[in-house]
Amino acid sequence: MSKRDYYEVLGVERNASGEEIKKAYRRLAKQYHPDFNKDDPETEEKFKEIKAAYDVLGDPQKREHYDRFGHQEGFGSGAGGFDGFGGSGFGTTGFGGIDEIFEQFFGGMGGMGGRRRSQGPEQGTHLRYDLEITLEEAFRGGNKVITIPRTENCPDCKGKKTRSGLDGDTCTSCGGSGQQQYSRSTPFGRFISMEVCRTCRGEGVMINDPCPTCNAQGKVVQERKVEIEIPPGVEDGSRLRVSGGGEAGTRGGPSGDLYVVFRIRPHKLFQRKGSDLWLEDTISISQAALGVEKEVPTMDGTTTLRIPEGTQDGETFRLKGHGMPHLKGSGRGDLRVKVKVSVPRRLTAKQKELLEEFARLSGEKVGLENRGFFDRMKDAFGSG
Ligand SMILES: [Zn+2]
Ligand SMILES: [Zn+2]
Repeated sequence: MSKRDYYEVLGVERNASGEEIKKAYRRLAKQYHPDFNKDDPETEEKFKEIKAAYDVLGDPQKREHYDRFGHQEGFGSGAGGFDGFGGSGFGTTGFGGIDEIFEQFFGGMGGMGGRRRSQGPEQGTHLRYDLEITLEEAFRGGNKVITIPRTENCPDCKGKKTRSGLDGDTCTSCGGSGQQQYSRSTPFGRFISMEVCRTCRGEGVMINDPCPTCNAQGKVVQERKVEIEIPPGVEDGSRLRVSGGGEAGTRGGPSGDLYVVFRIRPHKLFQRKGSDLWLEDTISISQAALGVEKEVPTMDGTTTLRIPEGTQDGETFRLKGHGMPHLKGSGRGDLRVKVKVSVPRRLTAKQKELLEEFARLSGEKVGLENRGFFDRMKDAFGSG
């Protein structure tokens, strides 16, 4: 096996920084990882070469040594074909770095290519529950009981999957590790790969007396009532974490968490903007002109809004402290009232008379000519 220069293998300059070397390695390792290039011995070979190069150049001490002395016994061996993979050496050299690489690239994402990453305890899945509440509930806060279906450890076997409730027997095929070496012969030589144990499917234990309650699954789906505390002033989209409220863990791992996402239903009167509430209120032209004190609704009753003389359509008024409670801290937001001035559609003869008098005093021209637009159009076209 020819030993290529490690810098060449990683495609970096001899003066490359540690970060550059790491980057080059990650890119190449991803490209040539055997899990993505199944049954291609050439990429497998290439991957090992890359790994060997990084083993040295990624370690400042080994790199310095390599720079000075080049390939030496003990350094280049990782790239030396498959002969180093017999028996117990497996898992500590060569492919031993796979888990580490996956950790880096995929943040511990398991099950890649059907491979089980860990035989240890695993935390259960987090659950999300969208809880719809009214604006009143968001205003007052309080408790609400929700029912969520979630997987829990089987109550009979306590997740052990056995009728006896005791641990299953250690798998004799893999000795409990859940992984096994499988070898296959190809024209390029004999390959040994680490795979999930086919006997126990990676669990490491054999269930000889399956629990009838959970069908040896160790888990059952149960509806669980959870009491949720609604904080006063909660906002649409606010998230509440119920620690341990998610799915049961695996192999003794902790439960996942439950995330409650609050959704606030639209209100028929109030519109919410942060801790402020907005309200539209209609007044008459006389109220707009003369001013008025009127009751307006709030979330907890009514309050008096003072509308001054000469208020214009669309003007807004602020009622301090009549909005929603602040989610963080004390006090409340404001109530903003937007005034809409309504013009009467019908007037009594007396009201009309008074308005005409008002217009006269203001020097305004009011009223329509006796003959309307359509009458004049008829004249112009000589019809009728
Ligand atoms: Zn069970
Ligand atoms: Zn096994």
